[in-house]
Amino acid sequence: KSFKDLGILDQLVEACNNLGWKNPSKIQAEAIPHALEGKDLIGLAQTGSGKTGAFALPILQALLDTPQAFFGCVLSPTRELAIQIAEQFEALGSVIGVKCAVLVGGVDHVQQGIALGKRPHIVVATPGRLVDHLSNTKGFSLCTLKYLVLDEADRLLNEDFEKTIDEILNAIPRERKTYLFSATMTKKVRKLQRACLRNPVKIEA
Ligand code: AMP
Repeated sequence: KSFKDLGILDQLVEACNNLGWKNPSKIQAEAIPHALEGKDLIGLAQTGSGKTGAFALPILQALLDTPQAFFGCVLSPTRELAIQIAEQFEALGSVIGVKCAVLVGGVDHVQQGIALGKRPHIVVATPGRLVDHLSNTKGFSLCTLKYLVLDEADRLLNEDFEKTIDEILNAIPRERKTYLFSATMTKKVRKLQRACLRNPVKIEA
């Protein structure tokens, strides 16, 4: 099946082609139709499976329909992964002018505050730094968020981000779509799944 067959709109199919993505990866082929139907997702997938595209494309397609600041938020366990995710959002979203902010540790708060002031569509963050900005950056809120992604959830939980994720869940709307991706399905991941997702569809790479 092609991206178009999965329901991806022409502008985004073109963005995929520009990246050299001719056909969807397995996880993308499984995830995208459910995501476009508005389902929550649990994806069992490793890095390299194309999981970033699997959650980024449906979010970008929804954004195309209702352009809005602070539309999606992706939580990543590491700064390196956060940067890679933001790069893929920007590459896929360049045709529709998507703005991303990356909130990770070890980088100046002021610069990140300026990025938030530009009202990006997508925020990619490590949990600690996101909570930091939610508490300390004036005018920044995720109260209009439509999409939450928990990427590499098993690693998020290994890093002891449980309490921090609870704080984030308290700062975002309950009415939203949630996608959880994890390489492994552990007890902690299942607990997080129950706390965050509503009737999710489970897919595997
Ligand atoms: P990820 O697993 O999301 O980190 O993606 C791993 C790599 O696969 C990235 O370099 C992507 O650009 C690439 N990729 C993702 N989806 C596709 C696709 N459908 N066709 C070819 N390459 C892809």
